[in-house]
Amino acid sequence: MPTSVGCASQASATIPRQAQPGGSGAPRLLIIYTGGTIGMVRDPKTGALAPFDFDHLIDNVPRLARLGYTLGRVQFHPAIDSSNMSPAHWAAIARAIEANYSRYDGFVVLHGTDTMAYTASALSFMLQNLAKPVIVTGSQLPISDIREDGTTNLITALQIAAARDDVGQPMVREVAISFGDTLVRGNRATKASSTEFGAFRSFNYPALATMNLHIRFREELLWRPSARGAFSTQTTLDPAVSVVFLHPGMTEASLRAQLAESGIKAFVLRTYGAGNAPTTPWFTSAIADAVREGRLIVNVTQCPDGGVEETRYDTGDALAEAGVISGYDLTCEAAVTKLMYLFGLGLSGADVARAMRHSLRGELTEPGA
Ligand code: ASP
Repeated sequence: MPTSVGCASQASATIPRQAQPGGSGAPRLLIIYTGGTIGMVRDPKTGALAPFDFDHLIDNVPRLARLGYTLGRVQFHPAIDSSNMSPAHWAAIARAIEANYSRYDGFVVLHGTDTMAYTASALSFMLQNLAKPVIVTGSQLPISDIREDGTTNLITALQIAAARDDVGQPMVREVAISFGDTLVRGNRATKASSTEFGAFRSFNYPALATMNLHIRFREELLWRPSARGAFSTQTTLDPAVSVVFLHPGMTEASLRAQLAESGIKAFVLRTYGAGNAPTTPWFTSAIADAVREGRLIVNVTQCPDGGVEETRYDTGDALAEAGVISGYDLTCEAAVTKLMYLFGLGLSGADVARAMRHSLRGELTEPGA
């Protein structure tokens, strides 16, 4: 694990502390604390928030003991604001889950909200054949504030991770974000509000559960692959992925400079509406040139709701003809992390292109599905 990015220490990753032992049949859950607002403290002079340690967070939720769960913990050193998240941190989270997979019934990842959707997407790909819940949560206000959302989010995430179906299997067997009153698939999530307690939305796939008076799962929507091999992790991601965001007035020089960025294997092209882009010849040839040079370009709309239907307008059709791959209804977060994962597997550009068209973990709706 690279020490330069300050990931979870080996000691805390391998020696989970039992915070509140439950009975022998009590759910065993591992809390992985990466940082974020939930555990931050305010600087008394400036009022600015900075990440703080796990004990501070747990000391603020004495109610946790009443759950009766057996809780272990892993802490990132230092705890970070999620704006500083990186693929190396995702690998550290995946490794912590792998090292503790057989010992726990489920995992709760405490994380800042800013890049939570990227982390949840990345983990959904990196955790292969996952059959246990990995519930990511955080909060908009620190748990030590008088009025806050962290306590409820933490307790609800633990309850979701502990939930079982009628035959005693984990109810959730995928990476999901539990936040406010909804549970959403991790690789479908987007941070939609910087102020609302319900910060996350899954625009293109319904919520997996609602958490109001009762926690109600929608079992028919939960990820249930027909076949599952042994759990494993892919911790090598290839960061040679970039995002190009279209806007009226974009110049040829700017577009070509972005597409010429050295070392980049794939671009997520954030297009308009149903996957549309300018049909002006310089634009189309810049894109076609990049494709000819071997760069993968994936079309993902700037609209949070809906997806790419390239053949609906001429303006989208031209992209398909230039060799751009449709991202269908992928979020940008899922597109970026899926590309990093697929190139991290060592696949060729052609194989990555093929895999981008199919759902690996429920991240996209294939046409006709
Ligand atoms: N900047 C914080 C973070 O992402 C915001 C939050 O947690 O809500 O770590």
